Amino acid sequence: DSKVVVPIESLDSLSLKSFPLCMRQLHEQLRLAHHLKHGGRLQYGLFLKGIGVTLEDSLRFWREEFTKIMEIDKFEKQYAYNVRYNYGKEGSKKNYSPFNCLKIINNNVGPGECHGCPFRHSDSSNLKNKLKGYGFEPQGISDVVDMAKKGHYQIACSKYFDLVHGTSIGLGINHPNQFYEESQKLQKG
Ligand code: SF4
Repeated sequence: DSKVVVPIESLDSLSLKSFPLCMRQLHEQLRLAHHLKHGGRLQYGLFLKGIGVTLEDSLRFWREEFTKIMEIDKFEKQYAYNVRYNYGKEGSKKNYSPFNCLKIINNNVGPGECHGCPFRHSDSSNLKNKLKGYGFEPQGISDVVDMAKKGHYQIACSKYFDLVHGTSIGLGINHPNQFYEESQKLQKG
């Protein structure tokens, strides 16, 4: 239910199971580097709006991270606008929708950027190491990486969904927010 308000305090734990890998890696990068480039802020910011993070909480979330490496003034001048923009509070005041998989998969991802779809944009060994780091068993990891190699990015994502939930549903995934909703449904029963 997208009307549920999700407090930013729960994002760390939600990211472990209910975030698709594209959003989990953005969350991790933000926590690690206290910064994301524009493509990442846009992709992740809209996803967070979609799961039910309020504008006020979003501002607090980005501010808390960014001000670990910059003055609050700089954040307010250069970044707060974009957060409000995602919520339709600036510029053309459009109500922007979170990106679907197709859009994310077809995005250009440059060096040092971590938006996009990891099944499409990460090389196989990086993907493998990341999944290993999460503690998944080798067979499950190979299944995911093989699908990604073959260019079946959304099937790889579906296999990742099953890995994190210990299921074998084989869900058809076309949107990161759908991944989230299905995960929440599964866990809340
Ligand atoms: Fe994200 Fe979609 Fe790629 Fe899954 S298939 S990681 S939801 S872009």
